[in-house]
Amino acid sequence: MRPARFELHRPTSLEDALAFKAVYGDESTFHAGGTELLVALKARVLHYDHVIDLKQVPELRRIHLREDGTLVIGALSTHHAIARDPLVQRLLPGYAELSDNVANIRVRVAGTLGGVLCFAEPHADAPTMLCALDARMALASHGSARTLPSRDFHLGEFTTAREENEILVAIEVPPQPPGARSAYRCFGHTERPAVGVAAVWSREGPQRLSLWAGAITGVPIPLPETQAAANALPADLPPTEIWNRLAPVLAAEAARIPAHDDLHGGADYKRHLVQVLAQRAIEACLT
Ligand SMILES: Cc1cc2nc3c(=O)[nH]c(=O)nc-3n(C[C@H](O)[C@H](O)[C@H](O)COP(=O)(O)OP(=O)(O)OC[C@H]3O[C@@H](n4cnc5c(N)ncnc54)[C@H](O)[C@@H]3O)c2cc1C
Repeated sequence: MRPARFELHRPTSLEDALAFKAVYGDESTFHAGGTELLVALKARVLHYDHVIDLKQVPELRRIHLREDGTLVIGALSTHHAIARDPLVQRLLPGYAELSDNVANIRVRVAGTLGGVLCFAEPHADAPTMLCALDARMALASHGSARTLPSRDFHLGEFTTAREENEILVAIEVPPQPPGARSAYRCFGHTERPAVGVAAVWSREGPQRLSLWAGAITGVPIPLPETQAAANALPADLPPTEIWNRLAPVLAAEAARIPAHDDLHGGADYKRHLVQVLAQRAIEACLT
């Protein structure tokens, strides 16, 4: 089915894009890669009289490093561009690897990071990793701007803290602790992950594990008991012993995740996947 008629606007600056939104309000929406939006428009699940295409706004596609070491990823960066970016590959190889495995090549070259975050379909990869990395979301509306932590951006299935008139401008990943390594592991029967687990582990100086599970509930969730157990481990333990000590803590914690049965699998199956994938992600950080 074709989408209902709409007027397409193609601003070339962020200010112009926000100005269009201020004029057309609820009758308009933003378009990035269109991999989710166009499907919904064609199915006539959504209808807008005005579509504001953000692809001609150069600053939304930029990936750069700030002086304080924050990696800034423009929200219109595609998964493919992120996977190939030298800065991401050098600073966050685990995130580059994740981006290289999203969906299929057609989705990766068109779909953007901002699109997957704003659409908020829970069976996605990047939100889990960005929470584990303590990333922040930079949002702008006509005349104002704000940032908020990734963990506060995701509110539920297809729901985020982004106001209707706001553009997600960039995703800001702070410098990670010294020696930190990150890894993401996921599994699913469909094109999207049934469960994904992200780990960021620093073993230089004070030990710090950031461990998050995604897709299993409406928003990515932290695993604080396993994190605390990891942070209390002696620094010189070999990797196999580390896992022996963390496994029972994680098993107890995973058993309480409020998962539900759906087409991606049964709740118990998904809780089991959390344990398997967490072990793989943690081992990838340690080797
Ligand atoms: C077949 C298929 C398989 C997939 N598999 C996976 C997978 O394995 N893992 C995974 O993580 N994801 C997967 N996805 C999701 C994919 O990552 C997203 O479809 C894609 O990233 C969305 O980006 P987009 O630029 O196309 O968004 P669009 O479709 O253009 O936009 C989506 C929504 O976000 C809004 N929006 C977009 N950008 C902004 C912005 N900067 N500011 C404000 N609002 C904005 C739009 O208004 C729209 O409501 C899959 C998708 C498909 C179609």
